[in-house]
Amino acid sequence: MALIVQKYGGTSVGNPERIRNCARRILETQRAGNQVVAVVSAMSGVTDGLIKLAKEVSPEREPIEREMDVLLATGEQTTIALTAMAINALGGKAVSLTGAQAGISTDRVHTKARIVNITPDAVKKMLDEGNIVMLAGFQGETASGEITTLGRGGSDLTAIAMAAAIKADLCQIYTDVDGVYTCDPRVVKTAKKIEEISYEEMLEMASSGSKVMQSRSVEFANKFGVRFEVRNSMNNNPGTIVKEETPGMESVVVRGVSLERNQAKVTIDDVADRPGISAAIFGAISQANITIDMIVQNVSHDGITDISFTLGAAELPKAEAALKAVLPSLGDKTTLRTQSGIAKVSVVGIGMRSHSGVAAKMFKALADAKINIQMISTSEIKTAVIVEESEVENAARVVHTAFGLDA
Ligand code: ASP
Ligand code: MG
Repeated sequence: MALIVQKYGGTSVGNPERIRNCARRILETQRAGNQVVAVVSAMSGVTDGLIKLAKEVSPEREPIEREMDVLLATGEQTTIALTAMAINALGGKAVSLTGAQAGISTDRVHTKARIVNITPDAVKKMLDEGNIVMLAGFQGETASGEITTLGRGGSDLTAIAMAAAIKADLCQIYTDVDGVYTCDPRVVKTAKKIEEISYEEMLEMASSGSKVMQSRSVEFANKFGVRFEVRNSMNNNPGTIVKEETPGMESVVVRGVSLERNQAKVTIDDVADRPGISAAIFGAISQANITIDMIVQNVSHDGITDISFTLGAAELPKAEAALKAVLPSLGDKTTLRTQSGIAKVSVVGIGMRSHSGVAAKMFKALADAKINIQMISTSEIKTAVIVEESEVENAARVVHTAFGLDA
């Protein structure tokens, strides 16, 4: 008998028929001789709908975060009850538990709380009594009994953390795609499902635009060594196993190609080349709560230099406003240029640590396709370039082919 944690995302429980589909799967898993904890998200669109309602009743100010959590937690509370009912109607025995009832304790940071501890006694007791436990994703409780939520996409974290706490034999993340792909199949028709990927690669892919799961939950899985599988709730195809790095994994140089659209570039020309300049620029950016991506500083000439960085295009107006304030302190002739309509293409793989020539191969593929590279950045397991937005899909395709990833 195995102990299995399953998680079903919002699309998978998006309507009554789909809830029944999940109920059937969960019940089959139990009937095959396993104990099952099933975590569910709110029905698709429900969390967004609740956020919209909150804004409508509170147009004068941001709703208080404590109340947001009380509100948002209802989405998952709805689906645990409905799925438990569906399982019971099919002849099974299921009990629903909220995050608090399941012993998920968090800090007090409302709307993006961190799990500090899980006391799974109630979960274990219910399992031992032969129940399927339907567990509400995305929520927990503070030490003083306040309801909290774990940040958007937080049901993934609930599943991974509960799997760690009860030492589950298997953790399955059910979603609306078959697993993690070598590239977005809507862009690269020849993209293949990846059989195995390391936590680190999965995190790099997510930060480069291939968001399959909440990154925090992948970090948590990495920290606690929770192996999990991402798979489709609508079919029985095997999914992608996400796990610790193993020696064989390094033989694949590039695991996947990801693309991130809607990027923008800020260039600050002719800043003084002296200590404190970058600190002033990025201090202003961080004060404005803007997350940036690549940073490039040129080699200086005659005591001046240029600094460029990229960020999400939506943040550009905020960044411009923040920088205008510090511009005069950066140099006599300093000017600011911005450009949107750019995108990022990244190749990711732990094999890059032990193979050389990855960047050269990527640049050659782009050159052959006459795609201009505007900026480059690298990390141990990633090489990323900025290109014109209109060329990003073609760039992804030629790079995917160059690294032999086509099916
Ligand atoms: N319902 C929450 C959200 O939409 C949590 C989740 O789906 O994982 O962000
Ligand atoms: Mg969701």
